[in-house]
Amino acid sequence: SGKLYVVATPIGNLADLSFRAVEVLKCVDLIAAEDTRHAKLLMQHYGIGKPLQSLHQHNEEHASAGLIAKIQDGQSVALVSDAGTPLISDPGLPLVQLARRQSIDVVPIPGPCALIAALSAAGLPTSRFSFEGFLPRTASARKGFFETKLSDTSTWAFYESSHRIEDALADMLTVFPPEHPIVVAREITKLHETIVGDRLDKVAERVRADENMRKGEFVVIVAGYQAPEVAGEISDEERRILALLLKECS
Ligand code: SAM
Repeated sequence: SGKLYVVATPIGNLADLSFRAVEVLKCVDLIAAEDTRHAKLLMQHYGIGKPLQSLHQHNEEHASAGLIAKIQDGQSVALVSDAGTPLISDPGLPLVQLARRQSIDVVPIPGPCALIAALSAAGLPTSRFSFEGFLPRTASARKGFFETKLSDTSTWAFYESSHRIEDALADMLTVFPPEHPIVVAREITKLHETIVGDRLDKVAERVRADENMRKGEFVVIVAGYQAPEVAGEISDEERRILALLLKECS
């Protein structure tokens, strides 16, 4: 049988498609794309003329079965999304699951991902982090979600659109301390790339005050919770117990 290639594509700058991605896209039989018109522009740019088939959120269960049949028939298929790495807040999970269940080789062709790009430039700890995808749409659900993140000691990140970035930061400010460190990465790899890191209240104010700061696509990176330094001399044992108590209270 053929193989399934999961190919990362640019998140704004066309030059970010890897050499290997171009090679793979040129040699597969079929490219499954989230939006075929969008994919066509990228393929044209690189002189890739392979057939395109749509695989998006609303048809992926059905389309995936058809693609698997083609792969089992000997064809190789590349999966691409509109931007970045497929399956990262993008379609493709049912296809990859089906392929793995059928013992089809699933080959990742790594490349751009807004989350990883933002983390790499944010300057917040990256040894442990979590990705929360898109936040709930209503303010009350968002606030509830932020509450669950208050005691998270690792860095965490979420994706946000231009419509909600201002509200999301305002809601966050009702739950998190104003001095909590965050980084907003906007339009990564594009002309108006802006990466702003500061206290939550400062960043929220900047986004509120500057209309340009609300345009485009966003990744928000949030520092993990750090227990405040306790004044005076305390022993390691006291510190350990304090940490346990703080955890219990949160
Ligand atoms: N699969 C993509 C990836 O690997 O990053 C993510 C796709 S998701 C549908 C789109 C969201 O990713 C946007 O709303 C934004 O939050 C984030 N995003 C994508 N491109 C971005 C960019 N150039 N700058 C900042 N955020 C971006």
